[in-house]
Order: sequence, then C-alpha cells, then structure tokens
Amino acid sequence: MGHKVRAVVAKGKGLPVSIEIIDVPDPGPGEALVQVQACGVCHTDLHYREGAINDDFPFLLGHEAAGVVEAVGPGVTGLAAGDFVVLNWRAVCGNCRACLRGRPWYCFATHNATQKMTLDGRPLSPALGIGAFAEKTLVAAGQCTKVDPSVRPEVAGLIGCGVMAGFGAAMNTGNVGRGDSVAVFGCGGVGDAAVAGARLAGAHTIIAVDIDDKKLEWATQFGATHTVNSSREDAVARIRELTGGNGADVCIEAIGLPQTYEQAFYARDLAGTVVLVGVPNPTMKIELPLIEIFGRGGSLKSSWYGDCLPSRDFPMLIDLHLQGRLDLDKFVSETIGLEDVEAAFHRMERGEVLRSVVVL
Ligand SMILES: [Zn+2]
Ligand SMILES: [Zn+2]
Repeated sequence: MGHKVRAVVAKGKGLPVSIEIIDVPDPGPGEALVQVQACGVCHTDLHYREGAINDDFPFLLGHEAAGVVEAVGPGVTGLAAGDFVVLNWRAVCGNCRACLRGRPWYCFATHNATQKMTLDGRPLSPALGIGAFAEKTLVAAGQCTKVDPSVRPEVAGLIGCGVMAGFGAAMNTGNVGRGDSVAVFGCGGVGDAAVAGARLAGAHTIIAVDIDDKKLEWATQFGATHTVNSSREDAVARIRELTGGNGADVCIEAIGLPQTYEQAFYARDLAGTVVLVGVPNPTMKIELPLIEIFGRGGSLKSSWYGDCLPSRDFPMLIDLHLQGRLDLDKFVSETIGLEDVEAAFHRMERGEVLRSVVVL
C-alpha cells in the first residue's frame, strides 16, 4: 500500500533542497515505519546536498530524529507500534568481526531498511540510512532505540547524531575520568556535547577553544571552565598555561581541520589522548614529526559516532537529561518547519545556531 508524505530532498549537487511528496513503503521483514516528530539539522545533511559525501542523488535528508513507531514488519521483536524512539545509524548486526569480538560499537555491517523510499519512482538515498526530514520514514527495526517518552521529541532526536558524537568522544573514545583535564577544539553542537560529557565524567578542567566568542559563551554554559579564542591567542600555549605547563590529558578535535588537529596534538600532556571526532574532507593532509608522535606517547584516536552503542547510550543520556543532570534543551536554538531547512543550512554555516530542529 505505502504512504505519500512530505519530505526534504536534495536533487542535485549544490542545489537548494526542496519539499517533495515521496513514497514510503509499508515495513517489510525486519523494518519499521516511523512517524517522525522532530529532526535536527546537522552539518552532514549539508555535506550530502553539496555532494561532498557521494553522488547518489536524490538524497532524502535528515538523520537526527525522534518519533513514534507506526508499524513494524514481519519478524520484528522488541519494538511495537506506539513506541517512542530515537533513530540511530548504528543498528548493530551481531555477526561481523567487531560484533563477534564483543565490540558492537564498531559494527562494520550495520542494518538499514531493505526497501527503498522513492520520489516519482526513483529510489532515494536516505542520509545516513535514515532520511527523517519527512513525515514518515522507513528504517531497519534496529535503528529504533526506545527511550523514556516523557522527553520532548526535539530534544530526544539530537541524541541520534551530533550530541551522541560529542558525548561519546569524551566519555567513550576519550575515556575522560575524574580529575582529568580536557581541551575541546570547536564549540558547535558536537564540541559542546563533548564539553558536557567531560563535565559529567568528572573532568576538573575543561578548556573550550574556538575563534567565535559566541560559541565560547555557549561552551561555558555547557560546563567549560576556561575559554580560549584562538584567533587572538596561541591555543597551545594557553592550554599549557592552564594545565600547570603540561597540556591537557584529553584533547578533542570537533571540527575536522588539520590546523586544529595539530593544535590538539601539541596541546596534549605526555601520554595523553587526542580524539578526532570532527570529520575532515578527503583532500586534507597533516604532517607531524614522527619523533613527536613517538616521544609524546599516549594515543591518537578517532571517534566514529562517539563509539556509541545506541541501546546502551541513548536511554542513559535521556535519563540523565530527565534527572536534570544534563541540559539538552540548550542545544535547541530554534524549532522550524520542513520548508525552513534550506534557510537553516545558511544559519548553520554562519554559526548563528547550535541546532535548528524541524518539528513535525
Ligand atoms: Zn556487526
Ligand atoms: Zn549528523
């Protein structure tokens, strides 16, 4: 039978997105149909529409979403119509070499819906296998993570991507613990979530680095103890000064630029950890003296989606929020309609918002 719904589609490289009526099939085996209630606007959506990820246009954008399960397909267990869920892009397979070794947060064969959503008969490529700037979307049942339904959907959805990536960079990948010093480079949604994660994990010094004073102010609200405007001061020297001359235990790069990665590398204490959670573009290169990589010891890590396990981490973050220990409301700068996504991209590019969230 299927459903006709309004959705935000990127039809070609660099073209403004448009609202289209798309066809969403009823769920088949292992799939779930979700009525989307809210979906955040993420940089990755913009990267899709700019053709920076791949050329599989048309894209159905949107992937930071929460909603209510409308129907599940044959064979789906543990999920039913009416469940309130946050969508994830790590539906673990249970069978790949990472899963079999007990490391499902690295799963190399994550599940997406098998059937395609279509526009005029043409298959759509859903952003990160989700495609939630739509009244309804079709996903693999494992992409639905049940959370406490008393949380606002516009807040819950953010857990599905940027907030989880930043939190996980600090708590999972960086393994920040009590008494650690942490520096975070780039204070947008992901970086501020890393600041909040470091605070919850017990870091005693949290240094936020950005070139925009407004973003540094946001970082302070999320728990940064010090801020450094790196357009005016030498970030590495200032971080050393703030950490007894040593550097931070954990440096988190949340932009994806060689210059800031290099700052993170040199602002780290001996045997410390650098976490790269910002996504670089394929042309970027970095040159570091190998002796410095050896001589400084520690570890240089990348954080994929905050190395999260959605079934473990999403409900926990929602519960911490509902207990008042994690203010997720502050991530929502504005709520908008589907037709406002293109304008929201421009506000995001200008750094005016932490997150614009489409509410349906
Ligand atoms: Zn797997
Ligand atoms: Zn995202």
